[in-house]
Amino acid sequence: MMVRVAEPGTTRVGFVGLGLMGRPMAHNLLRAGFQLTVHNRTAAKAASLVEAGARQAASPAEVARDSDVVVTMVTDGPDVEAVVAGENGVLSGAHAGLIWIDMSTISPETTRRLGEMAAARGVESLDAPVSGGPPGAEAGTLSIMVGGRQEVFEACLPVLRAMGQTVVHMGDLGAGQVTKACNQVAIAATMAGVAEALVLGARAGVDPRRIREALLGGYAASRVLEVHGERMIEHAFAPGFFVKLHDKDLHIVLSMARALGIAAPISALVAQQFNALVAAGDGELDNSALVKVYEELARHRL
Ligand code: NAP
Repeated sequence: MMVRVAEPGTTRVGFVGLGLMGRPMAHNLLRAGFQLTVHNRTAAKAASLVEAGARQAASPAEVARDSDVVVTMVTDGPDVEAVVAGENGVLSGAHAGLIWIDMSTISPETTRRLGEMAAARGVESLDAPVSGGPPGAEAGTLSIMVGGRQEVFEACLPVLRAMGQTVVHMGDLGAGQVTKACNQVAIAATMAGVAEALVLGARAGVDPRRIREALLGGYAASRVLEVHGERMIEHAFAPGFFVKLHDKDLHIVLSMARALGIAAPISALVAQQFNALVAAGDGELDNSALVKVYEELARHRL
C-alpha cells in the first residue's frame, strides 16, 4: 500500500502522553499547522493544548480513530504496551493505513514485538526516540533517531521535523531504540566522569566552578560538562531528565548487552549508582544528581 506523505493542514495527527517531553512536542505539531487530537492519562495536562486548538480525546483508541498518524510519548515499555495494545489502546481504535510513531525510550525488543502486533492490524510503525530534553522539545530542536520502513520514514518526515532538527533514519524497526541506548551510555559515562572529576578537584581544594571553566576550553569539554556540570556544582536538581528514567534506560542497555552476550561495564556501574539514588528517594531529581553518589563516597559536598 502507498503511504501518503504527511502535510500540515490536511494530515490529522494524534498525540498520547503529555509529560515533560510530550506536551511541548505536541505544541510544536500545532504550531506547524497539523490538526491535533491529544490524550493523557491525567486529563488536566492537556489544558494548554486544548487552549491552543487541539481536540482532547477520552482514550488512545479515540485518538487513533480520528488520526492519520499517532505519536506516543510515555514512560517505559509496559506503558507503551498499555496505551497501544491495552484496553482502549491505539490498536483497538486503529484503521488500516494508520501510522504509529513511538517516541518513548523503550527496549528495541519491545518495539519490534509491538510493531508486529501493529502490522497484524494493518498499522505501519516507526520507533523514533529523542535526545535533547525538555529544552529541545520546547525549541523543536530534538535529535530524533528513527527505525522502520524507509517509505514510512519519508512520509512522516514533516511530522518529525516539526519536533526535531536532526532527524536520522537508522535502519529497520528497533534501530532508533538501539541508537538511543547508545546515546544513554555515552551520556551516563560522561556524567560519571564529570561528577568524579568535580568531586576530586573540590576535595583537593580547588573551586569546582573554575575546574569546569578551565576544562570547557580543552578536550574534556562536552555539553554534559557545560550543562550538567553546572547543575552538579549548584545542586540544581529540578528535572530535566529524571534519575529514574536514566536508570530505566541503563537497564535497557544491560538487557541488550546480556542478550548479545557482551559486557557493558560502565553502564552496569552507573546503573547501580542510579539504583542507589532511587533507593534514597531521589528518583525524581534531575540525572545530574548522580554527583550526590560521588559526594557521599568522598564525604565531601561540592
Ligand atoms: P514524564 O514527564 O514522566 O511523562 C510521562 C508521560 O507518560 C505522562 O504523560 C504519563 O501520564 C504517561 N504515562 C506513563 N505511564 C503511562 C501508562 N501506563 N498509561 C498511560 N499514560 C502513561 O516523562 P518524560 O520526561 O516526558 O519522558 C517520556 C519519555 O521520553 C520516556 O521514555 C523518557 O525516557 C523519554 N525521554 C525523556 C527525556 C527528558 O529529558 N525528560 C529526554 C529524552 C527522552 P500521566 O501524566 O498521567 O502520569
